[in-house]
Amino acid sequence: MSVRDLMTPSEITWCPGCGNFGILTAVRRALVELGLSREEVVAVTGIGCHGKFTNYINVNGIHVIHGRVLPVATAIKLANEDLTVIGFAGDGDAFNIGIGHFPHAARRNPDITYVIHDNLIYGLTTGQASATTTKGHVTKTSPRGLFEDAVNPIVQALAGGASFVARGFVGEPGQLTSILKEAISFPGFALVDILQPCVAWNRVNTYDFYRERAYKLEEESHDASDLMAAYERAMEWGDRIPIGVFYRKERPVYRENFPVLKEGPMARRSLEGIDISRLLEEFR
Ligand code: SF4
Repeated sequence: MSVRDLMTPSEITWCPGCGNFGILTAVRRALVELGLSREEVVAVTGIGCHGKFTNYINVNGIHVIHGRVLPVATAIKLANEDLTVIGFAGDGDAFNIGIGHFPHAARRNPDITYVIHDNLIYGLTTGQASATTTKGHVTKTSPRGLFEDAVNPIVQALAGGASFVARGFVGEPGQLTSILKEAISFPGFALVDILQPCVAWNRVNTYDFYRERAYKLEEESHDASDLMAAYERAMEWGDRIPIGVFYRKERPVYRENFPVLKEGPMARRSLEGIDISRLLEEFR
């Protein structure tokens, strides 16, 4: 499979300069470099500008209702563990309406990757404050400056027990591709929070904003097996913003808890001799 195989005929309607382009390129490159085939990959998207991702990448795709990427992605992986399942969500989808699913996915540890297109604003609905908008930011819904503290996706993931926790920046495409490759190959729940400038509605957290502040964890001898060190790095947000892998630790994945799945994926079971007529009667 080549990057060209992953393209689709759909016209890309993101704003010119949107950080989503960088995520699309990095995901395509990561899938190609991992040697995956289109048939093996499922992309699950939520509501927001990121949601068009399934139109722009030529793999299996499902575009779900707002905030429900994680339960759908988890169910697909349980039904067929042979698939590589990647959920994509914006910061609003993941940490406003969808936040109730997040700690449960982290603690259950399904073998899926969760990619956050984190532009710190609602882009599709034209510039309202989201859960990750920085305190003090003036938006349409916070005209005197946002008075709430932002949700910190990295801290949330660590506190929830996520096995792999990373942050990328679209202005560092090489590192972003390498983080995505590691997350997709990782056996367990892998969060990749991506700093993705929204050039239309967020004039604070721009490419230059991140270029001036982002530093790579791997260049500062960060020990990604040390949970407390990960928390310390996760709390940094200001003059310095860490990008890279904060934490990784393998542990049993969700499906191992289901005896019925020990015989292989449900999707590969024979349907011969299965009688569901009594079940259907209950719906009459
Ligand atoms: Fe990208 Fe923002 Fe435009 Fe949406 S509104 S496509 S996030 S630049």
